[in-house]
Amino acid sequence: VERTLVLAKPDAVRKNVVGKIIARFEDEGFKLVALKKLKLTKEQAGQFYIVHKERPFYDELCEFMSSGPIVAMVWEGENAIARVRAIMGATDPAKAEEGTLRKLYGSNVGENAVHGSDSVESANYEIPFFFSGLELI
Ligand code: ATP
Ligand code: MG
Repeated sequence: VERTLVLAKPDAVRKNVVGKIIARFEDEGFKLVALKKLKLTKEQAGQFYIVHKERPFYDELCEFMSSGPIVAMVWEGENAIARVRAIMGATDPAKAEEGTLRKLYGSNVGENAVHGSDSVESANYEIPFFFSGLELI
């Protein structure tokens, strides 16, 4: 059983679709391990996305991720990392498959509604970034 970190990004919170995102993961059979709403500073967003430091969109990404509240959650299930990525769809909502969260709720390649850990290694960095051991139940 795997755990993965999911974020409802600022655009999803502004669009009032956090409940729909949570419901989708429940419907797909995942178990909710942890959940909180918070607002990152630009510096904190930069630390979270530090692997993208050299990418041309890094500054824009950090501005966006600190532009409003987000909802961080941890979901658990068989193959959770890959399955959550499939449910989210392609990074660019215009290229995402019908029915995926980014197709449904994303606006563009930057404002794409959700984040999901892309590997066990990423999940091991991202889950403790938001949650202490006591909060993971
Ligand atoms: P995430 O890591 O958020 O789950 P991802 O793994 O599909 O998304 P990454 O390549 O890791 O995509 O990019 C991280 C985030 O950076 C994207 O989700 C998006 O918000 C932003 N991003 C990616 N490419 C671009 C781009 N070309 N222009 C603007 N923002 C981008
Ligand atoms: Mg990624």
